[in-house]
Amino acid sequence: MDLPQLLAELISIPSVNPMGRRMDGEVYFEHRVTSYLEDWLRALDLPTERQTIEPQRENLVTVVAGDPPPERGGRVLLFDAHQDTVPVTGMTIDPFTPTVSAGRMYGRGSCDVKGGMAAMLAVAARLAREKPSPRPTLVLACTVNEEFGFSGARLLRERLRNRVPSIIPRPPDGAAVAEPTGLDVVVAHKGVVRWRCSTVGRAAHSSQPELGVNAIYGMGAVVSALAEYAKDTVPLLGEHPLCGRPSLSVGTIEGGLSVNTVPDRCTIEIDRRLTPGEDPAAAYRATIERIRERVGAVAEVQHAAPFLQSDGLEETRNGDLARRLSAAAAEVAGRGARLGVPYGTNAATYGCDFPTVVFGPGSIAQAHTADEWLDLDELRAAAEILYRFAVDFA
Ligand SMILES: [Zn+2]
Repeated sequence: MDLPQLLAELISIPSVNPMGRRMDGEVYFEHRVTSYLEDWLRALDLPTERQTIEPQRENLVTVVAGDPPPERGGRVLLFDAHQDTVPVTGMTIDPFTPTVSAGRMYGRGSCDVKGGMAAMLAVAARLAREKPSPRPTLVLACTVNEEFGFSGARLLRERLRNRVPSIIPRPPDGAAVAEPTGLDVVVAHKGVVRWRCSTVGRAAHSSQPELGVNAIYGMGAVVSALAEYAKDTVPLLGEHPLCGRPSLSVGTIEGGLSVNTVPDRCTIEIDRRLTPGEDPAAAYRATIERIRERVGAVAEVQHAAPFLQSDGLEETRNGDLARRLSAAAAEVAGRGARLGVPYGTNAATYGCDFPTVVFGPGSIAQAHTADEWLDLDELRAAAEILYRFAVDFA
């Protein structure tokens, strides 16, 4: 198996996530990669299943039979790698023409997370070919829409919970989610809740502003209250030994129609990061309550329901799994430190149902960048580590 060649092919097939915007055009959505994966797996005589989230967005799942099979006590291991990449605006390299220089492969998705996906595909192929005994039943799920809402992983989780008929024999005993962790093992990460908050005023001609109510002034008070809350209160709401403290940030602001109109509406987007174990809904409610206390008298404020919420990943649930993967990473590459990180992943979606860790080649510092790249030695090491881990999990 030529692993760099496989990665190059995955990079050359665009699967850009429109990130919630209405986009069409040749590079958007995952369907081209889905079809490629389907062909690739069928060529190995592996079964495939599509799980439709929406048009042009389907999880692609395959299963490599275990020995013993699950009905005779064999374990089931899930690998998850997302098919989507972030957009390519502002990139300084050709995003879809992979090039290799000084042992690195450049291109959108090389690091996040087509490299990790290539490593997992290689493990599936090798298990099917070498058939070590014992071995777990390997489920490889190439999921969609990780970068904007985790909806692919969530659909898979719901199907597992509800035992929807599938090529997956039963819910997994453990999972590894591909993300660029530099061959270390991420055992905990933060959660997140995001929502839009608006102030409502009354429009008037700006020559007579006293006839209107200025929604931007109202939002000024909200933003000040949030800045104070983010600085003085949120960091003290908790501390996690691996992930640090919770945080809050206002990321966008939009309001007003023209300079000569008193604005009747202003909207911000709030991003609240949660320590593992914090409840997204409670964090949302507490923030709303703080805004109400501070500015309830001076502005009419509306909060939309969260457009994204995800729990954190808790390390208390993945001890044995993390130890095994960590040992394999140490053996092959001298890596495998057990870490907590601030960013969210699909692992939180699975982590409440079965032990889940995050692992892959490449650094998060190279993900989403203008010249995204992956070290090819790390790619090869990741495939070897994941193979040893899978066989050990039997
Ligand atoms: Zn990713």
